[in-house]
Amino acid sequence: MLLPVIGITLSVGQYEKGPYKDQSLFTLNSHYIQAVVASGAIPVILPVVAEENLLERQLQLIDGLILSGGEDIHPSFYGETPQAALGKTTPERDLFELALARQAHRLHMPILGICRGLQLLNVAFGGTLYQDIPSQLAIHSHCPIEGPKKTAHPINIAADSQLRKIFLTDKIIVNSLHHQAVKDMAPGFIGNAYGDDGLVEGIEIAAKDSFVVGVQWHPEQMIDEDQKVMSSLFNAFISECKQWKTKRNG
Ligand code: MN
Repeated sequence: MLLPVIGITLSVGQYEKGPYKDQSLFTLNSHYIQAVVASGAIPVILPVVAEENLLERQLQLIDGLILSGGEDIHPSFYGETPQAALGKTTPERDLFELALARQAHRLHMPILGICRGLQLLNVAFGGTLYQDIPSQLAIHSHCPIEGPKKTAHPINIAADSQLRKIFLTDKIIVNSLHHQAVKDMAPGFIGNAYGDDGLVEGIEIAAKDSFVVGVQWHPEQMIDEDQKVMSSLFNAFISECKQWKTKRNG
């Protein structure tokens, strides 16, 4: 069987110096690519396009979707106005990814959302976010300065969740690089992991016929340090993508 192809979304940035200064730039941390390759799949990147027919064609080329981390989602997409501590937003990326996530789910394509990707899933299906944890909640920082390779806090994995079936334990230790979090859960989704402070650290679609999972941490950054645990998430996702690919090709 041909290897499944996994589409990964990109961040929207800007050249900061040189002849292209101020021009737009799509970026992706290479750890996402390495994680997909290590799980036995082919990574391709999905640049932001505004045209719906091109988005649909992009989805025809892939067997699974990873919504990557990055900028804050513009709060207008969940019915709020920006607060002072909101970070950089890229509404063109939001529009693309919201449509991409909804359309991929309509096709029952497996989706894995990572950090911003979890938040994007929640917003795409009707949930809301805390725009900035430190200014809205009296809990410890979820963006400590130690960086992506350092574990930051434990998470408690809900019984009867797809995440529990993947990790086969009720507690793992994760990194933490987010200043936003789920406020109201999207209808049709459940929280599958929570911090000791009660913050949502994972979500998944409640319907058992789809794989739509979001994690608030960065498993792709922890594969070298905690290979057995973190690669199990990617392996489970890729396995779902293989099944979906077989079904689609019927
Ligand atoms: Mn966290």
